[in-house]
Amino acid sequence: AAPPTLREVFLAGRRHGEATFLVYEDDRASFEAFARAVLALSADLIRGGLRPGDRVAIAMRNLPEWPVAFFATLLAGAIAAPLNAWWTGPELEYGLIDSGATVAILDPERFDRIAERRQACPALARILLARGTEPGAESLEGIIGPVSAWASLPPGELPEVPLAPEDLATLFYTSGTTGRSKGAMGTHRNGACAVMAHPYSAARAALRRGEPVPVPDPRAPQKVMLVSVPFFHVTGCFATLVSALSRGSRLVLMRRWEIARALDLIERERCTSAGGVPTIAWQLLDGREAGTHDLSSLEAVTYGGAPAPAELARRLRAAFPHAAPATGWGMTETSGTFTHHMGEEYLNRPDSCGPPLPVCEARIVDPEGRALPPGEIGELQVKGPNVVVGYWNRPAETAAAFRDGWLATGDLARMDEEGFITIVDRARDMLIRGGENIYCCEVENALHEHPAVVDAAVVAIPHPTLGEEPGAVVALARGQDTSEEELKAFVAARLAAFKVPVRILFYDEILPRNPSGKILKSELRKLF
Ligand code: ATP
Ligand code: MG
Repeated sequence: AAPPTLREVFLAGRRHGEATFLVYEDDRASFEAFARAVLALSADLIRGGLRPGDRVAIAMRNLPEWPVAFFATLLAGAIAAPLNAWWTGPELEYGLIDSGATVAILDPERFDRIAERRQACPALARILLARGTEPGAESLEGIIGPVSAWASLPPGELPEVPLAPEDLATLFYTSGTTGRSKGAMGTHRNGACAVMAHPYSAARAALRRGEPVPVPDPRAPQKVMLVSVPFFHVTGCFATLVSALSRGSRLVLMRRWEIARALDLIERERCTSAGGVPTIAWQLLDGREAGTHDLSSLEAVTYGGAPAPAELARRLRAAFPHAAPATGWGMTETSGTFTHHMGEEYLNRPDSCGPPLPVCEARIVDPEGRALPPGEIGELQVKGPNVVVGYWNRPAETAAAFRDGWLATGDLARMDEEGFITIVDRARDMLIRGGENIYCCEVENALHEHPAVVDAAVVAIPHPTLGEEPGAVVALARGQDTSEEELKAFVAARLAAFKVPVRILFYDEILPRNPSGKILKSELRKLF
């Protein structure tokens, strides 16, 4: 069963002792060194007046100080509000005001962005700067020292604050793909569920094959995960950080994603898993095909968070015969992984994002909220111990999405008789051309099958009588060429004529995305 709070996850992590937990550039910290830094910071936050239920904003790149700030906040009984490091000054200000954070832990770049806006955030009483010094901020290093000194900190004591599974632990902000980012109120129980996602999924797959449930071998070599997704999203925090801490896996951090650097790190650190969002998986595939690095340590390439064409799984399988592709569906509101799909099962159903985790439930409903039979397309609704309790400061949006114990996801999907879910599109991304439904994803997948296409997005172009028509923006692989007419014919050979984009624009590079891997369709619509 999932441990009751994230404090138990922290304690479980500490038991991995001197094994290396975090690797960042030339710095390395063991599980024990990490735990000492966490306890030192937690004690300092409490001395500084932080009370249970207060919010601590964390806004920085994937520095090793991020997980320290996160667990120090939780052990003090406070709520971590991770803010998106890509946000501009006004967006960070929104996050600080919305969360009502009294403490902010920032890296220098985020500090610069909000320095002048501090007056606009009256609740903010204390700023800790992760690295360096600035007037108006305290130095985090002054409290825990540099990473290399964490191991010599005193062992520390666990703060004596009561923590219950229902207590709020996190306010993760949604990606803001459909509107302003909303703070999802996650409890300790929601977050602690992350430790079960992987074992449960492996157990379910084994049971389906009629095989014994795999038991983790404590003497097995340590897993080494390349962290290419930001900690400020649920995948980076729960599916990666919390899961690694509980399982004793090593995390190799990157300040920012860069494929060349990622390939170097996989080779140097012998990473056993890499991935993140589908774009990253595509780039790893290119890296593999270029053959410049030894990527033989990889045992798994995983991705989710945005639509992944079936083509991706097939090509990964061919390129990495020993690394099982794995995918999943989840949202900020489900604390990350909700469905999980891997290995042969995935390759046999490459359109699906898998079934829900065993303790979670899903159903497909029509617009009136009535459950639909297998195979029919409707809205996906979900329920489970990882589903958050609502949106911070947003009673109307909470009431609209959280009803009768189910969360309405806003995603259109179908489910087969065995519970495998296929995401069809976001309800808002679907377009209707003269009464015919067009799911942008389906058209994007068809474009992806063309060998010259590396990226594709389909958006609605308004039409006076038909309502909307599909338009596409594609990026081509380096050195490849094709024409608008050829691509239209290619789609027409695969899909009904009404789904063929009326216009196809070529984009010079990979399409613009937010950090959770979603294409910024609002930007692309402007191109038409
Ligand atoms: P906002 O809610 O602020 O508009 P967002 O929904 O993009 O932003 P996230 O919580 O990061 O914020 O993303 C969840 C969404 O990501 C899901 O609702 C779904 O549309 C999409 N998604 C996640 N995983 C997959 C997947 N495997 N395939 C397709 N879409 C996915
Ligand atoms: Mg959403």
